[in-house]
Amino acid sequence: MRVDIVTIFPAFFDVLDLSLMGRARSNGVLDVRIHDLRDHAHDRHRTVDDTPYGGGAGMVMKPEPWGEALDAILADADDPLVVFPSPAGQVFRQSTAHELSEEQHLVFCCGRYEGIDQRVIDDTAGRSRTMMLSIGDYVLNGGESATMVVLEAVARLIPGMVGNPESLLHESHEQDGLLEYPVYTKPSSWRGHDVPPVLLSGHHGRVGEWRHAQQLERTRLVRPELLRAEDPRPADGEIGRE
Ligand code: SAM
Repeated sequence: MRVDIVTIFPAFFDVLDLSLMGRARSNGVLDVRIHDLRDHAHDRHRTVDDTPYGGGAGMVMKPEPWGEALDAILADADDPLVVFPSPAGQVFRQSTAHELSEEQHLVFCCGRYEGIDQRVIDDTAGRSRTMMLSIGDYVLNGGESATMVVLEAVARLIPGMVGNPESLLHESHEQDGLLEYPVYTKPSSWRGHDVPPVLLSGHHGRVGEWRHAQQLERTRLVRPELLRAEDPRPADGEIGRE
């Protein structure tokens, strides 16, 4: 997958050389190209922002540097998806991560200040698939950390990224949409806390039942809105059983 990121803080993405992302970049699974928006600002101060029309606090990112930066990236692109991280965008979910992991080319446009002049988004939408994407109902200072979140969630779903693809199936928000069950490793007793005995039983059927019950219980307590109509409720006597 090719990924272009436009930002006024290219150094923010130095971490992409670490861990699984770094390996994916060096073995060619991910081709990430970072672009400094200020390279497309041609005044002495390399200005990328200006005061908002209509008044109000804060500054808005100017259209000209964005237009030029995107022209350069899109010139040799084959059906890319251009992503504008924004708290005003559609909410990013695991299902969105799966959709984006099928793309061949993603372009991330990292906003700062009060955001990017709307005409940049409209102009891009006129020549390319475009989406505004929010990573949650809160406001960050810039689109860089949102881009990192989206990219990491997407990249780990690309075949070849994670050593054992089986591990991707049993995660929170996958398959049945429930939260994951609690996990444990050795030793079986630590500081007076024991691993639930069923996990030491070697009985796969009972382990599976216990894990599913734990998923339901956790989801009911923390994120009840994720439960589906067909999921058993506590009254069914199934939740928390060992
Ligand atoms: N004035 C904007 C609003 O109220 O919708 C917020 C601008 S925010 C201070 C600056 C930039 O941070 C945005 O342009 C966007 O790129 C990024 N950003 C902030 N919160 C975000 C979120 N929840 N999801 C994705 N990007 C976000």
